[in-house]
Amino acid sequence: MYQKTLLVLLVLLLGAVGCTQAQQHSNETMLNYKQPKSMQPKVVKTEEEWKAILSPEQYYILRQKGTERPYTGKLLDNKAKGVYCCAACGFELFTSDQKFDSHCGWPSFFNEMAGDRIKKQVDKSHGMTRVEILCANCDGHLGHIFEDGPEPTGLRYCVNSVSLEFKKKD
Ligand SMILES: [Zn+2]
Repeated sequence: MYQKTLLVLLVLLLGAVGCTQAQQHSNETMLNYKQPKSMQPKVVKTEEEWKAILSPEQYYILRQKGTERPYTGKLLDNKAKGVYCCAACGFELFTSDQKFDSHCGWPSFFNEMAGDRIKKQVDKSHGMTRVEILCANCDGHLGHIFEDGPEPTGLRYCVNSVSLEFKKKD
């Protein structure tokens, strides 16, 4: 009986994979790229606690997965040397050397810092299938990742300025 149930489950699973394979293929690289070993955030707060420490705009983007209007972010044209951290928990995510001019209206990076920094997950909102990027330390929404970035990764991390805090370093 147990074996039979297992077999049915396996068939169902294979069927599901088959149906979505075509759609998932183009997102595979991004989903697997530097995916953190643990998907569980270390910083966990209630929505009330986040509301208390974030501005309404930060709360909307970081916790409710909102998007800032293009070409409005404070860090879009920032060329200073330093580190970009998560605005919610301070976790270091990108360096200024990883930033590039993508002309897409949001700060863009072709890579992330080493060490389980950014979680990737499929996002099917707004009638599109995209790969969402989140701070691995607190699950804060950062933006999305696309496969049209420059070498050497070919990736573009498209990030809301609001989700980032810049720390200048000489
Ligand atoms: Zn964070």
